Amino acid sequence: MIVAVYAGSFDPPTCGHEDIIRRAAAIFRELHVTVFTNPEKRTAFSVADRVDMLKHMVAGMQHVSVDSCQSLLVDYASAKNASIIVRGLRAVSDFDYEFTMALMNKKLAPHIETVFIMTNPEYLYLSSSKVKELASLGADIGGLVPPYVETRLKEMFGSRKS
Ligand code: ADP
Repeated sequence: MIVAVYAGSFDPPTCGHEDIIRRAAAIFRELHVTVFTNPEKRTAFSVADRVDMLKHMVAGMQHVSVDSCQSLLVDYASAKNASIIVRGLRAVSDFDYEFTMALMNKKLAPHIETVFIMTNPEYLYLSSSKVKELASLGADIGGLVPPYVETRLKEMFGSRKS
């Protein structure tokens, strides 16, 4: 029974994240999706909001849970008895950062493997920051984020349109 964790900022969660969650959930027996809180990173949504949006996203998915974590990711994974860290890979531009993180986590916890799942080509150019930029400009973000996240983004940016 392989347990995995999928951590990220999810600010906000997008259809690209959802695709990775669905595919990872089909591979692993248990998947813990966690909002990784980095005090150095300024986010648009609070941790509670991001957990809430992810919970809506995974509602109905079997063996998938959502929470947040402030500790080292490998410590969180160990606490969940997880032996796998799932990450999504989009373009070559992701590789350098992901490679460094994977090697660092391997150094910290040799028993935990990082597994990369390639993006669905449909979501190759999709990122949380691009979604926020589009939403702030009043662009149509349907299909890029689930309807609930779209509503939350409209609440956040709707009044800022000029
Ligand atoms: P982080 O700040 O940890 O990179 P993100 O929320 O941006 O957090 O991303 C979490 C994970 O999801 C990362 O592995 C990232 O590469 C992956 N990811 C983000 N967007 C996509 C996408 N469109 N397709 C596939 N993977 C993605």
